Amino acid sequence: MGNQVTTAQPVYNRSNTSPNPILELRGLKKYFPVGRSLLGKPEGFVRAVDNVDLSIYPGETVGLVGESGCGKTTLGRTILRLTEPDAGQVLLDGEDITHLGEKDMRAIRQKAQLVFQDPYSSLDPRFTVKGIIGEPLKVHKLAQGQALEERVLTLLQRVGLNREHLYRFPHEFSGGQRQRISIARALAVEPMFLVLDEPTSALDVSVQAQILELLKELQDEMGMAYLFITHDLGVVRHFCHRVTVMYLGKVIEIADNEALFTHALHPYTNALIDAIPRPIVGKRLATVPMTDEIPSALDPPSGCRFHTRCPKCMDVCRNQEPELIEVEPNHYVACHLHGK
Ligand code: SF4
Repeated sequence: MGNQVTTAQPVYNRSNTSPNPILELRGLKKYFPVGRSLLGKPEGFVRAVDNVDLSIYPGETVGLVGESGCGKTTLGRTILRLTEPDAGQVLLDGEDITHLGEKDMRAIRQKAQLVFQDPYSSLDPRFTVKGIIGEPLKVHKLAQGQALEERVLTLLQRVGLNREHLYRFPHEFSGGQRQRISIARALAVEPMFLVLDEPTSALDVSVQAQILELLKELQDEMGMAYLFITHDLGVVRHFCHRVTVMYLGKVIEIADNEALFTHALHPYTNALIDAIPRPIVGKRLATVPMTDEIPSALDPPSGCRFHTRCPKCMDVCRNQEPELIEVEPNHYVACHLHGK
């Protein structure tokens, strides 16, 4: 059992950064209706994001991990209001953006951008690179004419491309180059915060490393915060300051990178870490493999949602949902093995 229980709020502050989070989520929920009765009422809801609290600080990278369907991509999209939240709050740079109208959201999109997973479908094939990267500069009235071209060129060079690429179309580039163009487009408005949704998963391993290095350099230069969505804990180990683990729409563990990879507390996190090919992690954790298939988020298990697969399941786990609590400084877990 954990030896220290303090607070239920996963609020975290890196001592070398601003005391104020760039992003704060409070009880964020997104449920998708499924099926319709004769009267048009939903027959159920997929609880894709269920009561998520999280803070991210300037200059830090928070990894968001979990299996496919755990809600991590929906969470990223809900933060940016590309999917509308059903409850809770999203605060960006201290401003509650949860209910802002489209006009006000346009200004917010200058502060927060998204880099998509698939560099093949995320770039409009009808536009040249200049058109793609220049579009947000036009929309936000940041540059036009010669100044716009100079700015696009500066951005291109910053991501490792050059003047000869300005008038080419997306199909003329490799996957890695396309992702560089996507990153340049996201950077055009000088955002404070980026959601990176599996930004390297469609790329070869050697190209992945180059893109991750580029993202690190840009963060050092510009102080941006990243939410890095991935199913690859090996990448998280090397790239993120802190890690948030999701299971069936719930956050079940948040910890510093080092703490998570040396002594994860939740059985699900331990199973994910054990599944990483050695020797990336080094020390192997003494855990038992997960059992059964992942349950449906449409009808999640009672009590702890992980109880149907957990090798350490106890009676209490089937009926009582564990709270996310801080069991050691900056290390939060939702599991009856730890805490009260
Ligand atoms: Fe396993 Fe119980 Fe902890 Fe859930 S609460 S992870 S079932 S031990």
